[in-house]
Amino acid sequence: MPGSRKRARSPLTSALAALVLALVPTAVPATATAAAPAGYDHQRCGNTSGRVLLTLDDWSYGDDDRAVTVGRSLQRRGIRAAFFLVNSYASRYPKVAAALHTQGHWVGNHTYSHPHLRQLSEREARAEIRGGVDSTLLRPPYGDFGDRETRLAEELGYRICTWTVDTRDWEGPDGTFPGTAALRATVRDAPAADKRSGVILGHLFSHFPEALPGIVDDLRDQGYRLCRNTGPTTHVIPYPLNC
Ligand SMILES: [Zn+2]
Repeated sequence: MPGSRKRARSPLTSALAALVLALVPTAVPATATAAAPAGYDHQRCGNTSGRVLLTLDDWSYGDDDRAVTVGRSLQRRGIRAAFFLVNSYASRYPKVAAALHTQGHWVGNHTYSHPHLRQLSEREARAEIRGGVDSTLLRPPYGDFGDRETRLAEELGYRICTWTVDTRDWEGPDGTFPGTAALRATVRDAPAADKRSGVILGHLFSHFPEALPGIVDDLRDQGYRLCRNTGPTTHVIPYPLNC
């Protein structure tokens, strides 16, 4: 497949990398670099399909199964989404990421504890990425990244993935979250160019999950197609995205 020059971890490579790590704990980078392909658009995350990719970030605090519930309803509608989980939570509930993979969704790295990576030392930033969900896409918290983070991501085997449509679902008046009607309107009114081969950002802790069924209806009514669920996934999120 022409797109697969992006590294695929062969068992041998993984074994060698593990050996190098075991023998020389301070060796960095321990894995081959994964330079983003020429022309890679971090806002589209490798989505060249024409279809819309829905993404859900962070965690549903106080409702740890919510990601799985959302994942199941998207799967039932034939949709593959990407979940960027904060690993300080996801690592405590490993069944969540496992269930999402089984449901046919992607699970990406959103760091270990959701810091502003640019405000950290290089050593700390690397540790945050390394401590994130094992994947091949990294979504920097707050979309905050620079050249250093792009380089670190590549060294650690990641492509940076942000978004084309921000629902701003976390930002309502007086500290409340925008309701489902407002979220639907935001997506409905977003420019076509941001939806075709686009990436929509929402969060697991907001009203975005409740708004999703309507958002999907609206997108389909507008003639957009969504990333198709073709069955279980692994930690390798391919380039281009097989939507
Ligand atoms: Zn986040």
